Order: sequence, then structure tokens, then C-alpha cells
Amino acid sequence: MDVFVNKVKCTGCQHCKDVCPVAVFEMKSRKDAAGANADTAPEGMKWTGATDPEVHKKWADAKDGHKHFADENDGTSGGLSVAVQGSACILCQACLIECEGECIHITDDSGVRYDSIYK
Ligand code: SF4
Ligand code: SF4
Repeated sequence: MDVFVNKVKCTGCQHCKDVCPVAVFEMKSRKDAAGANADTAPEGMKWTGATDPEVHKKWADAKDGHKHFADENDGTSGGLSVAVQGSACILCQACLIECEGECIHITDDSGVRYDSIYK
């Protein structure tokens, strides 16, 4: 299984880390590009310091108890999600419906791709 996060759209809500039963995700600082890009996200989906403006507009002022687009993670939200252990994914799909930025992408061992849709 391959899992990556499109960093351009990640809000830092931490839902993915909180729901994943096998610890695929870790939250990293937005000031640490190397750490933030330590998964298999392709060019164009890596963290270069800028968030997709449409995603920012949708979530920046959302009052849901999460820090959106904060540089650092405080244990509950903030920073960026990185799929540090994609090979452990059991395709439960929990993260795929919880991802605010609709930015988690999973490819199974047969090459079938699963993309997150927020519900
Ligand atoms: S689909 Fe995979 S990465 Fe997502 S929550 Fe389930 S085990 Fe974790
Ligand atoms: S659920 Fe999506 S938007 Fe939220 S931290 Fe994880 S990857 Fe980023």
C-alpha cells in the first residue's frame, strides 16, 4: 500500500492521525520542508510553503476546535500530515472520509487508487 498527503491542501486538522488504527500519519512542522515531504507525494503536491487558496478560504476561519494552517502542531492539530508508514495501511478508509483538505491518496498493491472525499 502506498499512502501520501497532498501537502498543498492539508489543513493540519489532524483527523487522519487521530482515526488511523495503524499509525500511518505523523504531524510535522510547516517550517521543516524535509520532514513535511517525507512521504511519496509527487511534485506539485509537496510542501513548498504555500497552501491552495481555495482550501485556505474554506477552512481558515472554521470554528471547529482545530488549528488550521498553523506552522506547528500542538498535539491536537497544526502543522502538516505526513504518511510516514504507508506500508502499514489496512485500507480501512477511515481517513479518506475525515480529511478536510481531501488530500489523502492511497494506492493498493493492485494499483487501485483511493482519494479522500470529506463527509
Ligand atoms: S485507510 Fe489506511 S491510512 Fe487511512 S486510516 Fe485506514 S489504515 Fe490508516
Ligand atoms: S485529515 Fe487531511 S487535511 Fe487533515 S491533517 Fe490529515 S491530511 Fe491534512
